[in-house]
Amino acid sequence: MTDLTKLTAAELAQRLSAGETTSVEATQAHLDRITAVDGAVHAYLTVDAEGALQQAEAADAARAADDAVAPLAGVPIAVKDNLVTRGLETTAGSRMLEGWKPPYDAHVIERLRAAGMPILGKTNMDEFAMGSSTETSGFGATNNPWGLDRIPGGSGGGSAAAVAAFEAPIALGTDTGGSVRQPASVTGTVGVKPTYGGVSRYGAIAMASSLDQIGPAARTVLDAALLHDVIGGHDVRDQTSMTHDWPSFAAAAKAGLEPDAVAGLRVGVPRQLAEGEGFEAGVRERFQEALDVLTARGATITWIDLDTLDYAVAAYYLLMPAEVSSNLARYDSVRYGLRVTPEGANVEQVMSATRAAGFGDEAKRRILLGTYALSSGYYDAYYGSAQKVRTLVQGDFDRAFGEVDVLVAPTSPTVAWKLGERLDDPTAMYVADITTIPANLAGIPALSLPMGLSEGLPVGFQFMAPAREDARLYKVGAALEAALNEQWGSPLYAQAPELKEA
Ligand code: GLN
Repeated sequence: MTDLTKLTAAELAQRLSAGETTSVEATQAHLDRITAVDGAVHAYLTVDAEGALQQAEAADAARAADDAVAPLAGVPIAVKDNLVTRGLETTAGSRMLEGWKPPYDAHVIERLRAAGMPILGKTNMDEFAMGSSTETSGFGATNNPWGLDRIPGGSGGGSAAAVAAFEAPIALGTDTGGSVRQPASVTGTVGVKPTYGGVSRYGAIAMASSLDQIGPAARTVLDAALLHDVIGGHDVRDQTSMTHDWPSFAAAAKAGLEPDAVAGLRVGVPRQLAEGEGFEAGVRERFQEALDVLTARGATITWIDLDTLDYAVAAYYLLMPAEVSSNLARYDSVRYGLRVTPEGANVEQVMSATRAAGFGDEAKRRILLGTYALSSGYYDAYYGSAQKVRTLVQGDFDRAFGEVDVLVAPTSPTVAWKLGERLDDPTAMYVADITTIPANLAGIPALSLPMGLSEGLPVGFQFMAPAREDARLYKVGAALEAALNEQWGSPLYAQAPELKEA
């Protein structure tokens, strides 16, 4: 019997519709895999075996009763723990929310349920999505399946590791400054940040609302596209949700397999996102090879300068904490989660004792920075200037997209580093976000896919497109993925070292 956990979501869906397996079988296979390897990987914070199997039974029953089920009906999924799930503990990786069972489902969770996709559990993440390594989680780090002593990226390291370790065929993440794409890059998987407003944020626990976007984590471009089709589209409960008429992303990914998919494609490489000190030699080599593959298939490559990107990281690390400081004010010991009540304490003392105990160091650092940046007398100098930079970055992208169809860059300047290695140096961690942050500042869609190995560890290639052109990413992404797979003989995810099953 084939190992159901080794199939892509698309393959699994095909078997389900051919009647060759059931959702209960597929879901059970993934739950067994979680039992076998998650002790070593720690991708999950909560596993909902009972709920997932019930949803799987319902998916099987729906399929038996009616053939017109959704394309991914019966395919199980893992969900980042900052997406609220009714009745299922949701912590956003923070002790502040330990034990909190939301009274409602996020928009994307409603969509998964309507599509008949069983939810295996909730995945580990940096606290409130702040980090690049999943080490700021209040519940312990996640280990990269490619090397258990390495970080899985962050903040969505749990979702990426779950997918890379075959503990889920597909997963959901959120991307504020790279948290779907960078984990994909360092785990040899695919991650997408949709156009801002393309997926409703209703029920996504807010980090920095003007940057946050929910996106798919998968092993293939087609799988990510299929999931994007499920979660995308307008929702009145998110005021930034677009009323755009989105095309089928799965159809776009399939169009990428046609022979001339990238012929004539104009590709721009912003120097600021592809060269310089921080970029490891192996990353630059794989990137150049991927560019050569695109050239060989008829694309033209132009290196360009987007000067404002020199200031993108600085702008992000002012705007983001400003929004964080405001969004995290709601954890006030009254409305959600933790309440610490020292004897004889008044309301204010309860509040500060709760926030002191509930937040980790990184959350506190960002609340302090953000509060400072927004304080009177400093607002214009910091927050105001950063907003201006953001506008300039958007202008730079607009101009660039007048000349090229897509912009590309390595997804991350480095491979996965060792756990603990950068914990004492937050700035080193922040500057490594240079490659992913610009897409969030500009609100444009971006996709990361594996481009090979450096020192035995995965590195990612990133495509960026103009706002609303997410379908373009799936098309060119699928084309490059197919070309690279042909070269390698098998997809990169299939080359990950075998994990010992407990
Ligand atoms: N590494 C970025 C940060 O720490 C990404 C966060 C995110 O996308 N949620 O802010």
